[in-house]
Amino acid sequence: MSIPFNKPYMTGKELWYISQAHHRGMLAGDGHFTRQCHTWLESQTGCHKALLTHSCTAALELAALLTDIGPGDEVIMPSYTFVSTANAFVLRGGVPVFVDIRPDTLNLDETKIEAAITDRTRAIVPVHYAGVGCDMEAIMDIADRYDLLVIEDAAQGLMATRNDKALGSIGHFGTLSFHETKNVISGEGGALLVNDERFVERAEIVREKGTNRSQFFRGQVDKYTWIDVGSSYLPGELIAAFLLAQLEEATEITRRRLDVWQQYHEGFEGLEGKGLLRRPKRPAECQHNAHMYYLLVENLDVRTALIQYLKEKGVHAVFHYVPLHSSPAGIRYGRFDNDLLVTDAIGDRLLRLPLFVGLEDAPLIVDLIENFF
Ligand SMILES: *Cc1c(COP(=O)(O)O)cnc(C)c1O
Repeated sequence: MSIPFNKPYMTGKELWYISQAHHRGMLAGDGHFTRQCHTWLESQTGCHKALLTHSCTAALELAALLTDIGPGDEVIMPSYTFVSTANAFVLRGGVPVFVDIRPDTLNLDETKIEAAITDRTRAIVPVHYAGVGCDMEAIMDIADRYDLLVIEDAAQGLMATRNDKALGSIGHFGTLSFHETKNVISGEGGALLVNDERFVERAEIVREKGTNRSQFFRGQVDKYTWIDVGSSYLPGELIAAFLLAQLEEATEITRRRLDVWQQYHEGFEGLEGKGLLRRPKRPAECQHNAHMYYLLVENLDVRTALIQYLKEKGVHAVFHYVPLHSSPAGIRYGRFDNDLLVTDAIGDRLLRLPLFVGLEDAPLIVDLIENFF
């Protein structure tokens, strides 16, 4: 038996759409397929404007440019996240300020944000871990009171909601990932969701090398020129064609992932009852998207032994982030004032199980883990 951690799901329509893009003969960005992806994302999430990017990393960089983060400006974020959450702001000279996470959802602990705010704080970047929403009501309230911008790292959050609002559509900006390891994919890929309409015009310009080319193509100006800082953040049409095929199946993909997730969740109820592990927790306000199934075990030794045991049985389980505040670059570029006790503990105890569309062996994996204990 050999069960990979992830297996990218193809809907079957990707090559057909790519062949259409080929036939149209327009391969640069912002053509027919990109526009359709934008429309889909705008209607699905309710964001004001969606813009495809090369990756979620690129969308975060774009957001960092749009929020005018400069040297010494502070950005509050969790330490338990992917490097791009921090890197995007460090590239502008910003300082990531790491705040601890909540023990239940492993999301930024909103009750610890205010203590980390200084005169230099400019933005908050909540990360919706495993597609479970952060407490955005509390976070937006803090942002309002301190006049901060909020960029949701919703890389894992497509098709998930909090109080019926799509993750990524609640802050001033949201960023999505379509990386091969996410639920809906285009190999590499991402999107910036602009929710605050004040930023739309500039977002289009920064994404198009600092030019007003988007306005030119819509006939709003008669020539295009360099008007702001910017870079090339837009993917070509072949990627957008692939992505559209995936977006059109997003509801079905999510449903099938939720099925697998639920099998795990029911399967592990007994072991949780015996206190041998902890299952993921979701607040009632959150509808998640089955991005991930993780377990929290007692300590690093148990986790290492369990990963090894599963490996011997042909099941590829993995751990997750090395907390950024303990990484070499996190120490060099970031800051944290208080102990990140939950973050430190979780980093060593979390184990992710295989989860992909078409996985039929969840009950078998549950049995193996029961045997292990
Ligand atoms: C995957 C991920 C990213 C990076 O996404 P890319 O599209 O690979 O750039 C950023 N943040 C989080 C939380 C992620 O899970």
